[in-house]
Amino acid sequence: MVPQYQNQAVGLSAPYPERRAKLRQAVFAGRRPPDALLVSNPANLYYLTGFTGSFGALLLTPDTERFLTSGIYATQAQSEVADIPIILNPTLQEFNETLAETTKQLGARLLGVESGMTIAGLQGLRKAMRAVGVRVKPIGAPVEQLRRVKDGYELARLRDAAALADAAFEHCQRLFQPEVAEWDIAMEIDFYLRRQGAYPAFDTIAVSGERTALPHGKPTERRLQKGDFVTVDFGAKLNGYCSDLTRTVVIGKATTEQRRLYYAVQEALLRSIDALKPGKRGQQIDALAREVLGKHGLADYFGHSLGHSLGILVHDGSGLSFRDKTPLEAGMVLTVEPGVYVPGFGGVRIEQDVVVTESGAALLTHTPVELMEFDW
Ligand code: ZN
Ligand code: ZN
Repeated sequence: MVPQYQNQAVGLSAPYPERRAKLRQAVFAGRRPPDALLVSNPANLYYLTGFTGSFGALLLTPDTERFLTSGIYATQAQSEVADIPIILNPTLQEFNETLAETTKQLGARLLGVESGMTIAGLQGLRKAMRAVGVRVKPIGAPVEQLRRVKDGYELARLRDAAALADAAFEHCQRLFQPEVAEWDIAMEIDFYLRRQGAYPAFDTIAVSGERTALPHGKPTERRLQKGDFVTVDFGAKLNGYCSDLTRTVVIGKATTEQRRLYYAVQEALLRSIDALKPGKRGQQIDALAREVLGKHGLADYFGHSLGHSLGILVHDGSGLSFRDKTPLEAGMVLTVEPGVYVPGFGGVRIEQDVVVTESGAALLTHTPVELMEFDW
C-alpha cells in the first residue's frame, strides 16, 4: 500500500550543509573554541548528515569534515552521507582508536564533545585521544540548541507526522465501544501507523475507566464499559519526525463530573495555545495552564509539565515546563497537553501539536478537542 501521508515533504531535500555551517559558526567562532568537534548522538547525526544508522560519528574542524562508521553501515553511509568523506573503522580495531587517528590527522589538539555522552563513553574516548596527544572537552549541546528551531524542511515533515496521527485517531474511533480491550485499541493504532510507512513514536497508551488516572498507563486486557473515560496517547514517527496526540473520550454519555474535568482541561489547553508566541517563556505558559486548572480546583491533579518540544525525537529538548526559562522563538514545535488525574475516578488529557509563529501558535494536529461521546 502506498503511504498517503508523506506527500508534502517528498521532493524537498534537507539542508544538511547549511546546518553544519551553522554548527561550525556556533562552535568555532566562540571564545576559546576547540580545534575539532565530535558529534556521535544518533539524532544529531541524522540532523546534520541524514544518516539513519545507529552507529557513527561526525568530526568537524573549522574547514574539514569526516564521517566515521563501521563496516555494517558502509553501503548505507555512502548513499546517505554522500557529501562528506567517509572513514570506515577497520573490523578488528576499536572505534575510539580510529577516531583518535583521524582527529590527529586533522591536526586537532583539543576536541570538543557533546555533554550528553555517557561517562563510560567519555572515559574510553579520553584514553584513546590521550595516546595521540589530543585533549577532550565536553562543550554542551550545540546541536540540540540548533534543533530547537525547525527549518522549512523539518516543518513539512512534522506536518506530515501530525496529519498521520490525526488519521490514526480517526481510524481507531470505531473501537470506542463496550467490550473492546485497551490493548486492541493500542494495537490497531500501531498497525495503522506501520501500514502507512511510519513507526509508533513511543509505546502507545490506551487506558480506560479508573485507569485513565494513570498519565502513562500501559494498555491491558481491560474491556471498555459504558460510562468509561478512554484516553489514547500515541505518535507517528514518519520520515524521521515525530507527532504526539492525546484525546480522552467517553463511552456513552458523559456524567456531570466527567464534563467538569473535560471542560477544565479543554479551557487550559485553549488558553495555553492562545498565549503561545515568540518572546514568552515556556514556564509562563505552564503556569497559565496551572492557573486555569486551579480556578476549577484541579491544579493539584495536574502532575506533569504542560508540553515538550517535538522533532526527530518525541521529547526533543526544552518545552513548556517550570524549568523552561528561555524565550520561545518562531519555528519551535511543541506539544500542549494539560491533564487532570483523579485517583479512583479517572483522568483527562488533551494534547495538540503546534508550531510557534510570529503571530502565535499554529496547529499541526487538527483532531477536534470538543468532548467526544461514543454512544453507538
Ligand atoms: Zn502524548
Ligand atoms: Zn507529549
